[in-house]
Amino acid sequence: MENIEKEFWKKKKLKDLNDAEWEALCDHCGKCCVQKFQQGSKTVFTNIICDHLCLKDISCSIYHRRLLTGYCVKVDLNVVREMPFLLPGTCAYKLLDQGKELPAWHPLMTGDPGSVVASGNSLAAVSVITEMSAMIDPARIETIEII
Ligand code: SF4
Ligand code: SF4
Repeated sequence: MENIEKEFWKKKKLKDLNDAEWEALCDHCGKCCVQKFQQGSKTVFTNIICDHLCLKDISCSIYHRRLLTGYCVKVDLNVVREMPFLLPGTCAYKLLDQGKELPAWHPLMTGDPGSVVASGNSLAAVSVITEMSAMIDPARIETIEII
């Protein structure tokens, strides 16, 4: 891949990654696109997801315009370190910043972009509703377990 060093995540620190390498680290699990809130020190995830998230392939339909929404946060090193509660425990950025390894199902490890979904580690494995900007019946809002 252009501008991506082979096995860069084993050789470089997060702060030294170029843009292409940073983007390649995202496993597209979609878990950071879930509505969530803080309860004490714990992050509680709900079954409400951003209505720009396409569940078919766990992609953002407005990725290059996402910051214009006013609520979407660009995941950068500052977010990883100062707002880790926005990200699930499996997030590749979090894992590497903690000195851990990428999980075996990460697309960079498998060479298969579909391996995160196939392994059950994406939002596709969770029952969610996609009506963030619509009127939501409070009775349909549930908290979900996300690791
Ligand atoms: S949680 Fe991390 S790895 Fe998963 S989609 Fe969000 S930024 Fe990418
Ligand atoms: S705008 Fe895109 S990246 Fe941001 S929360 Fe929604 S689906 Fe996720």
